[in-house]
Amino acid sequence: VTQLVDSHCHLDLMDLTKFPGGIDGVIRRANEHDVDYFLCVAIHLNHVPQLISIADNYEHVFASVGLHPNETPDVVVTEAELVGLAQSDSIIAVGETGLDYYRSEGDLAWQQQRFRTHIAAAKQCGKSLIIHTRQAPDDTIQIMTEENASEVGGVMHCFTEDWTMAKAALDLGFYISFSGVVTFKNAKQVQEVATKMPLDRMLVETDCPYLAPVPFRGKPNEPAYTKYTAEHIAQLRGITYDEVAEATTDNFFSCFPKATRSAK
Ligand SMILES: [Zn+2]
Ligand SMILES: [Zn+2]
Repeated sequence: VTQLVDSHCHLDLMDLTKFPGGIDGVIRRANEHDVDYFLCVAIHLNHVPQLISIADNYEHVFASVGLHPNETPDVVVTEAELVGLAQSDSIIAVGETGLDYYRSEGDLAWQQQRFRTHIAAAKQCGKSLIIHTRQAPDDTIQIMTEENASEVGGVMHCFTEDWTMAKAALDLGFYISFSGVVTFKNAKQVQEVATKMPLDRMLVETDCPYLAPVPFRGKPNEPAYTKYTAEHIAQLRGITYDEVAEATTDNFFSCFPKATRSAK
């Protein structure tokens, strides 16, 4: 049986009026496209109770706790708050956290501090990190190194940086996840990474409702579309879709040891 994992989705941010059948419909269409597991990622602590309730309602949905790097600096989170929220069994990861110098500007010391706090919390509760990094390769790797992020590991999600950055993250023991961006015609840099990197460290994701893959580019994205990203990566690497599906699914459970894989 071919299985995929949507390793990064935002079910709580989807405008369910645009998706027939609500979350049930979203999950059913995903299943029809081989997507059997979902990691629903937090961007704000206020969303965590809702994420936990979705994860509790759907057996194969996992959740995370975190405050997105682009949430405004006035929202402050402590290590204790993160660790406290992470106690639920449905929470398998800490994030998304990281650095985004594309969407935030000025003195970003607050963003760097927020990232360090998340790494400390992940180490404290033994749950893997979900790292968002955009146009901040050197600082991202430096903070990961200084804070010993390798101790818990995790994933560089929706990867769009270059091979040098990919290599540095792989050297720290991290996984790399590709979204629909890898299917975009002009995304040569990401495609190069998806082609060159070891398959045993790769994950796939939608990051829905954003970034729908070709042929749905610009439309609302949903977990079912993970399949189009996996198919595109298979094509880039000259291997079968099944090989990509099997590897990325196995990798997901190695990357997130707190996620339980059930017999199907
Ligand atoms: Zn992100
Ligand atoms: Zn995200």
